[in-house]
Amino acid sequence: MIKDSWFTIQEIDIETYAISEYGHWEKVHSFLLVGKEKAVLIDTGLGIDNIKRITDELTHLPIVVFTTHVHTDHIGCHGEFEEIYVHEGDSDWLINGIKGLSIEQIRKDISRDITIPTPETFNPDTYKPFQGVPTGFLQDGDVIDLGNRKLVIYHTPGHSPGHISLFDNKSGYLFTGDLLYDETPIYGF
Ligand SMILES: [Zn+2]
Repeated sequence: MIKDSWFTIQEIDIETYAISEYGHWEKVHSFLLVGKEKAVLIDTGLGIDNIKRITDELTHLPIVVFTTHVHTDHIGCHGEFEEIYVHEGDSDWLINGIKGLSIEQIRKDISRDITIPTPETFNPDTYKPFQGVPTGFLQDGDVIDLGNRKLVIYHTPGHSPGHISLFDNKSGYLFTGDLLYDETPIYGF
């Protein structure tokens, strides 16, 4: 398995990987699902380091990014990828920025409680969350075929208006983004 200074990579099975950022208090996880024709990257992390460095090592297939929700810690490396999808309920935040959240607050949150060295490219004083127009939208009931596995999209608002969860029918995995927090007691939006 890949050893990396910032990301922790866990092989869940031979075609599913968790890419985690344990050095930051958000402890965010992104997931790479490798199909036959393409791969799906669920979220792109904090943007403190470049997640594409890792996904390039894990697959040579074209990568499509699916966004569980538009919060800074889940869209950090969206700018590294050409195809980005989001639920319409969060698309305004992706294009225009998260409503009511100042850049000062974002920079404060991104740079605090970091327990491992950050890459030299990371500067909290100039850090800017991704903003951009998505390639397209995902909506409740969509089924995306990766060639050998299908992903079903569920609209699960609460944590954000356009939050989605993704169900992989082959493995039975449900990717819940920030809908569920796993610390006891389990907190569900
Ligand atoms: Zn969130």
